[in-house]
Amino acid sequence: MKKYLPLILFLFLTLTGAVKKPDFTDYPIVTAERLELTKQYCKDHYGMDTYELKDPKMIVVHSTEMSSLKDSLGCFKPAKMGDDRPYLQAFGAVNVGIHFVIDKTGKIYTLLPLNIVARHTIGFNYTAIGIENVGKKNVDLTAAQIEANAHLIAWLAEQFPSVEYMIGHYEYTNKKLPHYALYIENVTNYKFTQKTDPGKYFMTELRKLLKKKYNLELKD
Ligand SMILES: [Zn+2]
Repeated sequence: MKKYLPLILFLFLTLTGAVKKPDFTDYPIVTAERLELTKQYCKDHYGMDTYELKDPKMIVVHSTEMSSLKDSLGCFKPAKMGDDRPYLQAFGAVNVGIHFVIDKTGKIYTLLPLNIVARHTIGFNYTAIGIENVGKKNVDLTAAQIEANAHLIAWLAEQFPSVEYMIGHYEYTNKKLPHYALYIENVTNYKFTQKTDPGKYFMTELRKLLKKKYNLELKD
């Protein structure tokens, strides 16, 4: 029996998937003020009485459209939306937020806990885990980032069996895609903003790698 243990272990790991947890570096942005403003946003836009993210159903992949890590992390740090984004500010005082930022080297930073709603995708924040990639689409996003996104998403999909969908931000307004069934927005004049991040190339390569390396296909 003993000699079969390695084989049994191998089969167990193969059958259960068991993606290794990626290395995370903390860059916490959660404060009491952010939680309070998030709760208000969730109430106004989704009719929820909490800032908690429960049973997330989708993952949204972004790019910050800024080339520096410092600038990318810095824009998520304040709890309140800045005056430089008047349209967003008019529809909620909470600043944009995100769960992960991935640097060009593939290093993964954790910003908001996974059980807290982050403001990053209009109409879907109540159910979406958000990942930002440092860089500009079609310019300086890297292969290391695609690798790191695939690893993180494969791991997240195991941690949260509720996750069924993964999209690039530029796909969020596409009513023909299956994720659109999740759309909720109670403030009727809060319209979509035009998004192009992180670009079609990035998402195509990411989906290819997820399938090839992790045998994972999420709906879009
Ligand atoms: Zn985005």
